[in-house]
Amino acid sequence: MAIDFDPKQLGSELYNGGFRPMFIGGQWVGAQSGEVSDAVNPATGERLATIPDAGVVDVDRAVLAARRAFEGPWSKFSPYERQAVLLKIAELVERDWDKLCVSDTLDMGMPIMRTLANKRRVLGMLRFYAGMATALHGETIDNSIPGEIVSFTRKEPVGVVAAIIPWNAPTAATVWKIAPALATGCTVVLKPAEDASLTPLMIARLMQEAGVPDGVVNVVTGKGSVAGARLAEHPDVNKVVFTGSTLTGQSIARAAVGNLKKVSLELGGKSPVIVCKDADIDRAVPVAAMAVFAHSGQICIAGSRLFVAREIHDEFVARVADFAKALRIGHGIETDTDIGPIVNSRQARVIEDYIASGQTEGARLLTGGSRQSGPVYDGGNFLTPTVFADVHDDMRIAREEIFGPVISAFKFDSIDEVTSRANASPYGLAAGIFTKDLGTAHKLARRLKAGSVWVNMYHAIDPAVPFGGMKMSGYGREGGVEHLYEYLETKAVWINTD
Ligand code: ADP
Repeated sequence: MAIDFDPKQLGSELYNGGFRPMFIGGQWVGAQSGEVSDAVNPATGERLATIPDAGVVDVDRAVLAARRAFEGPWSKFSPYERQAVLLKIAELVERDWDKLCVSDTLDMGMPIMRTLANKRRVLGMLRFYAGMATALHGETIDNSIPGEIVSFTRKEPVGVVAAIIPWNAPTAATVWKIAPALATGCTVVLKPAEDASLTPLMIARLMQEAGVPDGVVNVVTGKGSVAGARLAEHPDVNKVVFTGSTLTGQSIARAAVGNLKKVSLELGGKSPVIVCKDADIDRAVPVAAMAVFAHSGQICIAGSRLFVAREIHDEFVARVADFAKALRIGHGIETDTDIGPIVNSRQARVIEDYIASGQTEGARLLTGGSRQSGPVYDGGNFLTPTVFADVHDDMRIAREEIFGPVISAFKFDSIDEVTSRANASPYGLAAGIFTKDLGTAHKLARRLKAGSVWVNMYHAIDPAVPFGGMKMSGYGREGGVEHLYEYLETKAVWINTD
């Protein structure tokens, strides 16, 4: 992909360390306490901006604004008008796409060519849900009650939705939470992650420009333990949609119990990638490697358990290691960077701790495992792409989500064996299969406990296709028609026509 602008130049125009207010009830405001946090570029350690640290009182104002908008102006928008607003947002996101991508890259480190490449998906989400806004309908259902009694269902918006999102894909996560909410007539309070709030604020500005009424979308920045926790427990929030770690998802589910608000959770994973002996090795190597190394492994669907058929194992993992060595590590804003920084030093230490545990527990380090050093890297946390072989199923690096650029490779002998080992994980988010045999592909796709299964590919996500997890990877689906039902209540109406 060729680009016709200079990301670094655009970045320096976007952020200069100044204050970026949050968005409540159509107003751009600071936290009532006056507290702020720094938004830091993880590649350099430089401050890009300061953002408000919302307290409980700010969150409560945002929820009130969302409630008033839900009961008031937004309830008067027809499906066609909501569709028009969503299409306008899509147009503005397309207009400002370069800026949004540079903002994401600067704030959380993902290589710019990768953020730019998400365009079709993000615009697709907005346009898919714009289309769905006018396609919502209930059903007329024949009942068995004597008499002339008509029964039908209505689909009604659930109300005020709290959307709590992670830092690793701010634009996509913001759009994927807000688009179905607007399509169904809900209102939203969005809480971006501490490490990536700048682009969601930018998108809020586009929503305002698109004519979204005040209070329909609110963005509160701040700490998960304060602003996020308040949203999760808030008695006037009807639904919380969350993407993030399993631990935080559990705490949100507990907090949501107070008013029995609906919850959907897209959580962690330890996804298996299974390479069968008949796989097309040339094609499988880069895909299996990038199933983890894309975004330095900081993605929930990272295919971090690489199961390779014994017959081809040694050749395959050696080639994955060679592929890893050739990846260019650098600042995300450079167009030739393959691997950007780890989002913050705490997360980098967590990953290093996993790497150390792999070595202590006897896994064989084929490549990586260290910090990338040199003047260019000094301001950030850059880890080399890491491949471990001879990993045993009971090692920590085999069981726990690392959220870093670490592949654990295993040998397997039979489809039955690899199925049960792949499924022996508390997680069930995604899985990859490489085989030329249709029977094997179908068998594995049916047996694997995962919300998404990719065959001879990985990472595909589309607005029209449901995405989400099984087991401790969460519940609820994003994408597709199913996503809309997460934001809708079904009401049954009975009419005695006698
Ligand atoms: P990560 O470890 O990837 O940062 P988290 O699950 O901690 O993942 O964070 C994802 C989102 O959840 C962020 O917006 C964060 O601020 C928010 N968050 C963190 N803790 C809580 C909590 N206790 N309640 C609600 N939201 C939280």
